[in-house]
Amino acid sequence: MGWKDEMRECARTLEDLGDRLQLDEGARSRMSEILERAPMAVPPYYLSLIDFDDPEDPIGRLAIPSLREEDQSGSLDTSGEADNTVAVGIQHKYRETVLMLSTNECAMYCRHCFRKRLVGLPDEGTARDLEAIEAYLLEHDEVTNVLVSGGDALMCSNERIDSILGMLAGIPHLDFIRIATRVPVTLPSRITTDGELRSILERRRAEKQIFMVTQFDHPREVTPEAAEAVGAVLGLGIPVRNQTVLLRGVNDDAEVLGSLFRKLTSIGAEPYYVFQCRPVSGVKSQFQVPLREGCRIVEGAKALQNGLGKSFRYCMSHVTGKIEILGELDGGRMAFRYHEAKDRADLGRLLVREVSDDQAWFD
Ligand code: SF4
Repeated sequence: MGWKDEMRECARTLEDLGDRLQLDEGARSRMSEILERAPMAVPPYYLSLIDFDDPEDPIGRLAIPSLREEDQSGSLDTSGEADNTVAVGIQHKYRETVLMLSTNECAMYCRHCFRKRLVGLPDEGTARDLEAIEAYLLEHDEVTNVLVSGGDALMCSNERIDSILGMLAGIPHLDFIRIATRVPVTLPSRITTDGELRSILERRRAEKQIFMVTQFDHPREVTPEAAEAVGAVLGLGIPVRNQTVLLRGVNDDAEVLGSLFRKLTSIGAEPYYVFQCRPVSGVKSQFQVPLREGCRIVEGAKALQNGLGKSFRYCMSHVTGKIEILGELDGGRMAFRYHEAKDRADLGRLLVREVSDDQAWFD
């Protein structure tokens, strides 16, 4: 099946899920309210990975809405994205990096998404005006790279992707472009069945180095189809790096996370970051793992890797910067370091903080 057919057949309503979900009338109506706030989309391929006999199936938790989303504690902008927005859909938080929200669409609307304020909802915050973005970048020669994100950057049309990459390739002071996409995980056919997309990526990569950043969160997502998509991208000369979010009920186990990293390394998607789950409304209460526990899980997973599989960093994307979670110290303290910082004076700064057993974020 081609990817456009798959998108047409996405499960978007409770009816589309048929009798896979056992919900009484009251639960159905509560679930419908959740879907109005945070839409669902699950392509047939990803749906086939879910074990609906297991109500706590980790793949199901990533894709299928849950009544746990009714707990709206937390925030919809945990990393200060509004403050870093310099034009519609353009963020400039770290001196060298500009982030572009290319679309509000994704192949799948992940239940743990940290951009719930944007994805699948009426589009007001994405970057439409390429000329304005180009003008901004030309004025800011301190910017060395652009992260094309969303939503999912590969949900843009091929024509749009070509225009974006062409504009960025023409900015002389950019060293490289990153494309943030989860399609190798959720809709691998977007890559494997679309030769036009692959030739655009190959042609633009020849003009400016491109990296693909994806997000596998569980070893069962690393299927032959996903491996084929990653292999196809690597074959274009585009390195693939993976960012995993540490998630309760999905990968909060050293063996599971360790198995994920080994599988990723074996298909050439190098583990790059493990992100602490952000305190997002509807996400925080069901997915966040406390920092001390997270540290032990990540260290346990690291111990199962060879050198290449353990080159990732465990980080928290905080309003003040990307803070690496280094480890536990005695006396209830933990060590952290600024890997990226909004205020450059913080770059590389070590932090030692008392952290309680249930603490999962910094105020
Ligand atoms: S693909 Fe990324 S942006 Fe889209 S819903 Fe999933 S986590 Fe969010």
